[in-house]
Amino acid sequence: MVTIELRSVSKSYKKIKAVDNVSLKIKDNEYFILLGPTGAGKTTLLKLIAGLIKPDSGKVYFDGKDVTKLAPDARNIGFMFENYALFPHMSIYDNIAYSSRVHARDKNQTKTIVEQVLMMTLLTGRNKALPKEMSGGMQQRVALCRALMNLEQTKTLILDEPLKALDAGLRMSLRRELLQMAKSAQLQLTVVHVTNEEQEAMMVADKIAVINEGKVMQIGTPYEIYYRPNDLFVANFLSEINCFDGTCLKDQEPTWDIHSKSKRGDKFFAELQQDSYPILVDLGPSKPIATYIRKELYEKFEHGTKVLLVVRANHIKIRLGDRTVEKRNSLFGRIQRRKFMGAFYRFEVLCKLNGTEKLIIISTLATSEIHKNFVENSEVTVYFPKELGILFEHPGEEYIKEVFKLE
Ligand code: ATP
Repeated sequence: MVTIELRSVSKSYKKIKAVDNVSLKIKDNEYFILLGPTGAGKTTLLKLIAGLIKPDSGKVYFDGKDVTKLAPDARNIGFMFENYALFPHMSIYDNIAYSSRVHARDKNQTKTIVEQVLMMTLLTGRNKALPKEMSGGMQQRVALCRALMNLEQTKTLILDEPLKALDAGLRMSLRRELLQMAKSAQLQLTVVHVTNEEQEAMMVADKIAVINEGKVMQIGTPYEIYYRPNDLFVANFLSEINCFDGTCLKDQEPTWDIHSKSKRGDKFFAELQQDSYPILVDLGPSKPIATYIRKELYEKFEHGTKVLLVVRANHIKIRLGDRTVEKRNSLFGRIQRRKFMGAFYRFEVLCKLNGTEKLIIISTLATSEIHKNFVENSEVTVYFPKELGILFEHPGEEYIKEVFKLE
């Protein structure tokens, strides 16, 4: 069993606060992802967990035991960091087998495990090569092999962008392998894995911690982070979003039943409605917008609170013509640009809002109907189900600019 806990951990490099008062708990056998942009402090956090650096303040616990002062070797973990640090004069086989000495494993057993990890990373047959004879992606896989050698003993795997330099196909297959290995009944690993790719995070994580500027912005399951982000930065990091300035209409009686459950008995929407409450938002046009928000947020908002409504591009639906009378949460507009992205189309639709024009981004599955009929200049209605809006107290223009890297 391995649980990991950080309590109020901070680490600075001169004036840079790389990790700023971080507390988090990682459960036994949890696949835990640290997700964030470049320079967010993810590697520093991982090094603090591995014991490669010591915090300025705060404590690190493994299985409830304070390991803050323990050296990496004494923490009993398998780790792989971004700068692979392979031994240049040693063959690939020896690089991978090296740690077997520490674990006093016999030669035949070592050979079997090295062959297994080489096969998994598609490196079979390259065991005699030297690191300099391998590509960057191959060296990275060798470093990954090395981290995977002793998992039966260590049970903890610490990975810093382990799939970064790989092509898309290999990355996908290694994600599957890593997940399978972590969850295998035999190993049952606790994994801490750093990435800046949201898709990688969503695919493998039990839990995700979104990190920005040394701080944990949110910790949750992929589902929670995606559907119930607690901050604009988190919402925007996971997929393309649309933002609307609005005012909360808490005291206004809706002219339709905003409490209605999904007509089709949609279990998914019903789940999103749980522990949430519908609220009206005035965005300017005559019809207010309705959206579900968590009860604790609902209680915080007052009539007239300035809010920011966020809707993911892939949650907005698109129909031909003006359907704004029949569709709630809708706007009328014209397709300005469409791009074929393979599995989906990405539309930029210019809508009228508050006497000005607002560009709305929509991504929708690339069906033949979309391909044929939704061409540039078509008049369309865009709308979203009330379960899929995300509402924040307005964070101010400065923060919005910061999140979207404007100016
Ligand atoms: P990336 O995804 O680019 O690897 P990261 O999220 O892992 O980024 P860190 O490498 O932890 O981020 O860096 C966090 C901050 O600390 C950055 O501003 C970085 O420049 C700084 N930093 C990290 N290591 C050092 C160091 N050894 N000396 C000085 N500054 C450092």
